[in-house]
Amino acid sequence: MSEQSPSPAANSRPRSSELFARAKQHIPGGVNSPVRAFKGVGGDPVFFQSASGSRLRDVDGNSYIDYVGSWGPMILGHAHPQVLAAVSEAAQNGCSFGAPTEREVRFAELLCRRVPSMDKVRMVSSGTEATMSALRVARGFTGRAKIVKSDGAYHGHADSLLVAAGSGAATLGLPGTAGVTEGATRDTLTVPWNDFAAIDRVFAEHRTASGHSEIAAVIIEPVCGNMGCVPPLPGYLEHLRSLTEQNGTVFIFDEVMTGFRLARGGAQQRFAIRPDLTCLGKIVGGGLPAAAYGGRADIMDKIAPVGPVYQAGTLSGNPLAVAAGHTMLELLDDSSIYDRLELVSTHLCSELRRLCHAQNIPAVINQVGSMFTLFFTDQPVRSYDDAKRSDTGRFARFFHGMLARGVYLPPSQFEAAFLSAAHSDEDIEKTLDAAREVLGTL
Ligand SMILES: *Cc1c(COP(=O)(O)O)cnc(C)c1O
Repeated sequence: MSEQSPSPAANSRPRSSELFARAKQHIPGGVNSPVRAFKGVGGDPVFFQSASGSRLRDVDGNSYIDYVGSWGPMILGHAHPQVLAAVSEAAQNGCSFGAPTEREVRFAELLCRRVPSMDKVRMVSSGTEATMSALRVARGFTGRAKIVKSDGAYHGHADSLLVAAGSGAATLGLPGTAGVTEGATRDTLTVPWNDFAAIDRVFAEHRTASGHSEIAAVIIEPVCGNMGCVPPLPGYLEHLRSLTEQNGTVFIFDEVMTGFRLARGGAQQRFAIRPDLTCLGKIVGGGLPAAAYGGRADIMDKIAPVGPVYQAGTLSGNPLAVAAGHTMLELLDDSSIYDRLELVSTHLCSELRRLCHAQNIPAVINQVGSMFTLFFTDQPVRSYDDAKRSDTGRFARFFHGMLARGVYLPPSQFEAAFLSAAHSDEDIEKTLDAAREVLGTL
């Protein structure tokens, strides 16, 4: 593999730009998911041809050290030989049956062993479906309507979760996008992340005449990753756990991003909190479209065909996706992978912090395990409002400088970057060399 020289001029991308122009003719915005269009940083997106380990290769032949990892799934690096072998073997036996298979049983057994709070689990095809279905079963189980989410948290694109971030105190949900009715979001309440008083207020305000809570579920990202990486303050998860427990409210961990990333058993293992339901995606599909939701047996048994809550899927438990996810999770049984991810990520982040400091560039780097974000701000980032104070223009210049030097970061200030087990010490040093140069130009 011929490496590109680390000069910005060496990394030109005419074929990507050509494809992007063509894509826009027949695909809205030229992309199949909005953030791919580089709106947050400007310029044309990179079109990729192949990937292996920590490296991506674009259609112009440039090579990049990848810190996006397909937005999370590629924790073992790209094109892991055992995952590939499992998928092609499964494909030989047929791509889909729409009927039960042995492997999905073994996969469910593994998930329930691995995720501390999971008694039963149902497979779906995307994180969006997982959160949407978890909320439905929470409402079916409690017989209540209202749900609470955090400002700036992303739980997929189901209507009831696309709610504008309310500022300050909790607000009644208003749709944050065209095409969603007020009816769909009327029962969605939002609170600022890490604000203990705000969640207390919401629970105090939403009670029936007889004093019962009206809140069916609180759904959170246990470490926020979709406003950039914003961890919970000490005691915050515990506070939410006891509040929901006192009120008979279902506590949902959306671990689509953190599941199998922050520890073998996800964020709930790392923080030792037991949610009632957990949503999984990204890593659980091993790079193929699979996701899952599960948790307490008494709640999960409300789902059809045992219970009255309907939820279904033509491709749910798809044999290729199950083969990929199952193989990846078996490989992730080795906790030394997590130890190294932690060590290398901590090294990378503390060096980046040092480089910013040396150049007098205001920066806050939030890191939990192998997920992190460099925010260009001088204030601690504990909420979406804090994150929004970042200098996004500076982030865009940093992003493009890194890209030109062969480092692919998430193309937005408000997304977490990921390290994989395939990143070598040499990758990290090259990344830091590039960062040193780029920060010097900001
Ligand atoms: C990615 C993500 C989702 C949505 O998953 P999709 O597979 O894109 O639908 C939901 N919740 C969180 C926390 C995510 O990071």
